[in-house]
Amino acid sequence: MMSETYNLIIIGAGPGGHAAAEYAARCGARVAIIEKDQWGGTCTHRGCVPTKALLACSKQYMNIKKLKRFGISTGEVSLDYTAMKRHQRQMVTTSSLGVQKSLKDAGVELIYGEGKIANPGELIWISPQGDTQRLIADNIIIACGSEPLLPPHIKPSQRVLTSDSFLALETLPESVIIVGGSIIGVEFATFLAELGVKVTIVELLDRIIPNEDEEAAGFLRQELTRLGITIHTSARMETLQEIPDAVLMKAIQNTQVLELKADYALMCTGRKPVLIIDELNQCGIGYGQKGIIVNENQMTNVEGIYAIGDVTGGVMLAHRAIQQGKYVASKIYGDHSIKYSEEAVPSVIYTHPNVARVGLTEKQASEQGLKVETRRMEYAANIMARTELKGNGFVKAVFSEDRLIGVTIIGDDASELIASMSLAVANGMGKKELKKWIIPHPTLSEILQLL
Ligand SMILES: Cc1cc2nc3c(=O)[nH]c(=O)nc-3n(C[C@H](O)[C@H](O)[C@H](O)COP(=O)(O)OP(=O)(O)OC[C@H]3O[C@@H](n4cnc5c(N)ncnc54)[C@H](O)[C@@H]3O)c2cc1C
Repeated sequence: MMSETYNLIIIGAGPGGHAAAEYAARCGARVAIIEKDQWGGTCTHRGCVPTKALLACSKQYMNIKKLKRFGISTGEVSLDYTAMKRHQRQMVTTSSLGVQKSLKDAGVELIYGEGKIANPGELIWISPQGDTQRLIADNIIIACGSEPLLPPHIKPSQRVLTSDSFLALETLPESVIIVGGSIIGVEFATFLAELGVKVTIVELLDRIIPNEDEEAAGFLRQELTRLGITIHTSARMETLQEIPDAVLMKAIQNTQVLELKADYALMCTGRKPVLIIDELNQCGIGYGQKGIIVNENQMTNVEGIYAIGDVTGGVMLAHRAIQQGKYVASKIYGDHSIKYSEEAVPSVIYTHPNVARVGLTEKQASEQGLKVETRRMEYAANIMARTELKGNGFVKAVFSEDRLIGVTIIGDDASELIASMSLAVANGMGKKELKKWIIPHPTLSEILQLL
């Protein structure tokens, strides 16, 4: 069998693999990336990009209702879901082509097919036709990502969908039961309800978005309810049955039995890392239920084999995978200048309004025994938010010993506002540094005038 030799081979071309490959190649390494499905991974094809394309459509639709207040009259407004799906597909294609172009421009070799680690430093590439080739590499990065996780007794079907199969639907249903009120569940709920679908959320815990600030979660619940979404918290799905045109669900909420019916059930019950157990065992690579185990350098217990992104478990977000990818590449082939800190990974929930956070919530900080000081700013007190009818919302900034350790924002464009706060938290900024910050006026960013 012929063998090719590389400095670095990456398995999986999602955001993590893409970022690592490009960075290492730009540092002068000979790099190959193997992808068995689609260039851009979950983020481009089944995650960030298609969901945000649909949320952009539903947001514009909702914005039309504000136009009258701005003195603009429109004719009759109608929805064309086929055109929205076209927008979704176009954005996915644009993103996927962008991934391929930037990899090629950096000099990365793109290999289509499945990658299997045979031994440390040795992989087998299996082409879509089933041909195999041996590949040799000084270093290997596993960036195989994650897939939807369903409760043990639930099987996906025509009417029991995961986020993957839901995004492939071409028509807008009339009603959907969403199981799980965390990030993915509430994002789907938002765009569906905005487009007129009857949405019911069934959440096991006593609140939606349980990892976020309690007050922000309560605020979002109110907003989603106002959109017409029915939210059942502390509700456990007991049975789910598919009948010819619908699904029937029985859930227990405290002592009450809820009997629900909808066109589809959408399972947003978490994600699991893609682990090829035989391969990991054969190479002696350590893993647990949450994913491949890595040290502070993202290296597995096997020298020269690294893992990044969703496959390592933890907070499954694209920008976390990207930063980990660049971090590893810079450590092996660059000047070690890229840093990665789990505490500085921001998260955004693209509901309308958005919920964005970096660092700790007030409660998390107090639970860690930190002495906490919280500053709060309101959207209602910001003239740009008022002028542009951005609605309500607030910012909560958490300081400890004068250092900014966390910010939560709920409100329009929180996804954009959190970026500067991420910079502040990542750099351990304190009141002294923040006092130098001059924010242009009038802007929504003035909401972040914390001091
Ligand atoms: C509905 C939804 C919405 C989301 N929205 C956001 C968002 O708005 N913002 C955000 O930050 N994150 C979001 N995410 C999460 C984000 O998509 C993931 O965190 C991110 O894609 C993880 O990147 P990754 O590189 O680790 O893996 P992935 O993107 O999962 O890519 C892994 C790739 O590896 C390939 N692969 C696997 N095994 C092999 C093999 N043996 N050989 C070759 N190739 C292989 C797969 O085909 C895949 O292309 C969302 C996820 C979902 C499901």
